Amino acid sequence: MSKQNISLNDRYDLAKSPILLNGTQALVRLMLMQKTRDKAIGLNTAGYVTGYRGSPLGSVDMQMSRARKFLTASDITFQPGLNEDLAATALWGAQQAELRGEGKFDGVFGLWYGKGPGVDRSGDVMRHANMAGTSTNGGVLMAMGDDHTGESSTVLHQSEFAVIDAYMPVISPAGVQEIIDYGLYGYALSRFAGLWVGLKTMKDTIEVTSVVDGNPHRLSFSTPEFSMPDEGLNIRLVDDRIEQEARLIDYKRFAAQAFALENKIDKRVWGKAGAKIGFVAAGKNWLDLTHALSLLNINNQEAKRLGITTYKVGQTWPLETKGFSEWAEGLNLIVVVEEKRKLIELQIKEAIFDNRQGCRVYGGTCQGGEFFSAKWMLDPVEIALKIGRVLIDEGRSTDGIKAGMASLNAALQLDNAEEIVERLPYFCSGCPHNSSTKVPDGSRAYAGIGCHFMAQWMDRETLGYTQMGGEGANWIGEAPFSNRTHVFQNIGDGTYNPSGVQAIRAALAA
Ligand code: SF4
Repeated sequence: MSKQNISLNDRYDLAKSPILLNGTQALVRLMLMQKTRDKAIGLNTAGYVTGYRGSPLGSVDMQMSRARKFLTASDITFQPGLNEDLAATALWGAQQAELRGEGKFDGVFGLWYGKGPGVDRSGDVMRHANMAGTSTNGGVLMAMGDDHTGESSTVLHQSEFAVIDAYMPVISPAGVQEIIDYGLYGYALSRFAGLWVGLKTMKDTIEVTSVVDGNPHRLSFSTPEFSMPDEGLNIRLVDDRIEQEARLIDYKRFAAQAFALENKIDKRVWGKAGAKIGFVAAGKNWLDLTHALSLLNINNQEAKRLGITTYKVGQTWPLETKGFSEWAEGLNLIVVVEEKRKLIELQIKEAIFDNRQGCRVYGGTCQGGEFFSAKWMLDPVEIALKIGRVLIDEGRSTDGIKAGMASLNAALQLDNAEEIVERLPYFCSGCPHNSSTKVPDGSRAYAGIGCHFMAQWMDRETLGYTQMGGEGANWIGEAPFSNRTHVFQNIGDGTYNPSGVQAIRAALAA
């Protein structure tokens, strides 16, 4: 075996593959790869990255800054946004750079990043910009950082429904390789359908490191047969909001489905035609499902023997229904493994409603009771126990399934010990919040977004908080109806600059 020279900088050297990357670094490589792919087909494009950091996308700024040399050499500009919605507005601008004949490039492919609450606050921009569309040789991806369990957020959040409300497709990668693969797919889709595209990320899929195939030309995407309107679906200089809506409703959603079918973003993974029980999942839940099946001692061979098939969804909205229906043909039962509010399940039910042929769909509910909860998260053990029970009820009881469930139940019984040590997080030593969050006797304070949120868990007369940027505005509405004449409001620099200053202006005006 010959010795290979390996360096950490290989991650951004497109001549090197395979390479070791974490999910955030994959976003950097994705941008470099898109530029190279465009160049190979004679397009002189540029890239633009903007957004606002926040877990699980807290290190995008750092990784983009560190890679600035590589990005600049590829005509990719990294410009952190003041906040999420102004960053999204800047991306809308990037899609207009060539519209007046003043553009330096053939198109600008853009990447927005932000956590779920940042997606929420960008709703107005997303609706406007997605209605306007993307440029023919540009495209927009929105990397949405979701924290389903609120580990590092003041709300438990799931971004899909916010972007779907603006009619944006959503793609859901299940790890680092797919952040690159789906990212490239997303740009191709965005250009074809004239849509902004949401790229779902979670700590389980982006805060991971993997060896991936980083060949920029590994994937190719084809253009489906699609009856386009005369002037296409992309952004234009002179447009009308009524025509924009018609373009969105009459064409863009269907274009996204046609693109998904043509490029087979959703696929059968295990089992074969003729199976009777099908499992469906996407993104992090796909990882959970495959883990759960392994806990039940089911592999591809065993799945085929038991008449089980699995379907991996890449584009969670709009679900491509033709390929799905072909996969679902002849199934008696479809089990959708999906945490949080159900998205795929509802589309599946809609897709098969007119031709159910007795097929049942389990997901949020099963036989009238709750099955996979919309609360918190799912884990492979819970999934394994639930689908194991379903398989036994469906006459697929095997020694492997029973042994897997027995072993999981035994492990859960051992997991009933009380926590030996419980420690609440606290400010770092030397942190200014250690003293600044102490209020005078008789006073009380509100928390906000930032580490000072932790003051609520301390003996500091601090209780209650707002969304980022709203700090203190709640008191505007409370004060007229309260016997108290004054409260303190904590606000950190990280909030003051992007948005909190507006709340201060509102408080002064009140
Ligand atoms: S704000 Fe304070 S508690 Fe938070 S990371 Fe900085 S020093 Fe630590």
